[in-house]
Amino acid sequence: DTAPGSAHPADSHDTIRVVGARENNLRDVAVELPKRRLTVFTGVSGSGKSSLVFATIAAESQRMINETYSSFVQGFMPSMARPDVDVLEGLTTAIIVDQERLGADPRSTVGTATDANALLRILFSRLGDPHVGPPQAYSFNVASVSGAGAVTTTKAGREVKERRAFSVTGGQCPRCEGRGSVSDFDLTALYDENLSINDGALTIPGYSMEGWQGRILRGCGYFDCDTPIKDFTKKQLDDLLHREATKLKIDGINLTYAGLLPTIRKSMLAKDREAMQPHIRAFVDRAIAFTTCPECEGTRLTEAARASKVAGLSIAEACAMQITDLAGWVADLRASGEAAGAAPLLGSLAHLLDSFVAIGLGYLSLDRPSGTLSGGEAQRTRMIRHLGSALTDVTYVFDEPSTGLHPHDIDRMNDLLQRLRDLGNTVLVVEHKPEVIAIADHVVDLGPGAGSAGGEIVFEGTVEALRDADTLTGRHLDDRAALKSTVRTPSSWLEVRGASANNLREVDVDVPLGVLCVVTGVAGSGKSSLIHGSVAKAPGQDVVVVDQSAIKGSRRSNPATYTGLLEPIRKAFAKANGVKPALFSANSEGACPTCNGAGVIDNGLPLAQASSVTCETCEGRRFSEDVLQYTLGGRTIVDVLAMPVAEAADFFSAGEGKVPAAAKILARLVDVGLPYLTLGQPLSTLSGGERQRVKLAVQMADDGGVYVLDEPTAGLHLADVETLLGLLDRLVDAGKSVVVIEHHQAVMAHADWVIDLGPGAGHDGGQVVFTGTPADLVADGSTLTGRHLAAYVG
Ligand code: ADP
Ligand code: ADP
Ligand code: ZN
Ligand code: ZN
Repeated sequence: DTAPGSAHPADSHDTIRVVGARENNLRDVAVELPKRRLTVFTGVSGSGKSSLVFATIAAESQRMINETYSSFVQGFMPSMARPDVDVLEGLTTAIIVDQERLGADPRSTVGTATDANALLRILFSRLGDPHVGPPQAYSFNVASVSGAGAVTTTKAGREVKERRAFSVTGGQCPRCEGRGSVSDFDLTALYDENLSINDGALTIPGYSMEGWQGRILRGCGYFDCDTPIKDFTKKQLDDLLHREATKLKIDGINLTYAGLLPTIRKSMLAKDREAMQPHIRAFVDRAIAFTTCPECEGTRLTEAARASKVAGLSIAEACAMQITDLAGWVADLRASGEAAGAAPLLGSLAHLLDSFVAIGLGYLSLDRPSGTLSGGEAQRTRMIRHLGSALTDVTYVFDEPSTGLHPHDIDRMNDLLQRLRDLGNTVLVVEHKPEVIAIADHVVDLGPGAGSAGGEIVFEGTVEALRDADTLTGRHLDDRAALKSTVRTPSSWLEVRGASANNLREVDVDVPLGVLCVVTGVAGSGKSSLIHGSVAKAPGQDVVVVDQSAIKGSRRSNPATYTGLLEPIRKAFAKANGVKPALFSANSEGACPTCNGAGVIDNGLPLAQASSVTCETCEGRRFSEDVLQYTLGGRTIVDVLAMPVAEAADFFSAGEGKVPAAAKILARLVDVGLPYLTLGQPLSTLSGGERQRVKLAVQMADDGGVYVLDEPTAGLHLADVETLLGLLDRLVDAGKSVVVIEHHQAVMAHADWVIDLGPGAGHDGGQVVFTGTPADLVADGSTLTGRHLAAYVG
């Protein structure tokens, strides 16, 4: 019921019309999307799906919403440029439900990220015994939309002068300030106490005795830099470690001294873990441990708040229960009639908890820290906020919602996407899995290739029509990988005994080495707990783990800096030209003096009208003019950063530009399917799949013996899954062991060995329900995975 070809504005009631979209690689794309329908966007990674759906449609919707706020409020929002598009009509409010992890704020939990904790607090303040008073009042503003695409639910708390045992801050444990954990530094990772500072005692990355830091340490007068640290007095050690920022005059210059821990907290811990350079990240992992708060034992609550009970349960106990069980407790409380006064409240709570169960997250508990959820779990948690929403005629935008879901779970998730549509909303989904593409009312296929070889709409229409379309997606839609007729024989076995992390029930399992082993099971069955908790930590094995966490780059990091390939290139430039490597860094001496290497300049207007423009001096190249006189093999450093990976791989592998260390990393980037990516493209602009594969390339470069991968097909087009399988095969044939957590049935079929966990999720899972070859799994047919795989291979 779409109206293809019709360009009449009156249609904006029924369609979202896009004309002349040119963001990133899009080539003047024109498309009409039916409203209140479910549209799936397909195409290889890098074809332009996100550029169309997120950078054009959702971005413009959010920009228009931002403009409806007063200029005072706008001052607090990031300013957004209008997307590069000629016409955009028929937009409604867009809500993006993506896979960004929920905030790393340790105070955030599944319960606080949804409204569940707020409802529980009200419940406990009303019914709790002993009674500890009502909570701070809440009002919830639905969907205040932030410019970066994340949707936040704001809590506008009104002050009440009452006792606030269950309020946001009133009931918060004073020791850990509601974090539930306290951080501890391992001092041995910061310095060698047998040495003096001048002899190089400090082992913190970035601390150099040659620069300013050395001058400050020597001139501060708090300690003697020639005395071994083990001989410091308590006061001296305290100043070295803990002194807060203090202004000092050293050699007539005003400088600021701060102890090691405040400096590390400020310079390193304030950053997102993934935005750190690899060596800083390794240091932080080594030097800082988070332990459960001894005061509240991780419950985050004060003693009074912990003691109050409803129907025999404290709020902490309620939050620690598996959500399926908590839903049962609420149902019993409603049925008992004891809480008649709180019936509407209990109704809301029951409805919310049922949404968790329906979406396949019933195995979580409300006290689960948000930061420990996988990308897919975080996305489904966000979805819950919207299922209960009274909003209609909203445009929901999903980024690969099947990530982390077993074929069995995908059916339930599909139901929810359809429910959102049936409530009168427009649902836009970027997806690769045929099971999700199958429920589309309308499909938009981008291609034909990636990067500059993509950016066009190659097909539009129904799923049936897509099957007959001569596009990559059309040709691969009904691909069915055959079960391998011969499987490899394991060289040895890794014996896991008594694994009991999270929901695992004393699992004994032998993991085959020297083969491709695939670990399967529904979401929450215990796959990650088994693999990350036991296999990845196996003693005596060289294990390389490529997990799913997204790279959140700073504005200045790019594939070249993140993978470390720029270091040897800078050195080669320096050597060829007889100058310092730092000159070839836009974050250091090579920076354009006008923009300090940012490439853009803020216009200096008050926040409300703030925006940034390309720097005129360097024209966005970020480097100073001087640097461009130096070349390597005829290219400047700016030319190098503009090269696509494949071209750079050739350039650095032979001839004048030969830099073997860089060529090796570039070859890995080609291997993981990123030949079109530009070396200098900001990491923050990569699509989810691209970012994950950059990470894969980095970690594949480690010389490990056992590779552990967590859903490497996420973000991969059906056509690219074959390439990935080829890469995994090459690793195994080179003598490595590969253990993969996967839901993609083509990968299961290709395995040499399958370990299937289940039978259900949470406390209904945690057991090994099958081990053996994929053929035996299908023949056995006793597990969910076996039955789905049997249907898949046909
Ligand atoms: P998909 O979502 O289909 O994977 P994208 O729309 O993310 O594809 O990317 C299309 C192309 O545009 C890719 O080559 C990608 O690397 C590039 N790209 C995406 N975002 C940016 C950006 N902000 N700046 C430059 N290039 C970008
Ligand atoms: P899968 O990888 O199969 O989806 P997981 O191993 O992630 O399953 O989860 C198994 C069980 O362990 C679930 O009940 C989950 O909620 C729980 N769990 C997983 N990680 C954590 C964690 N960091 N803290 C507490 N519980 C966890
Ligand atoms: Zn505490
Ligand atoms: Zn500049």
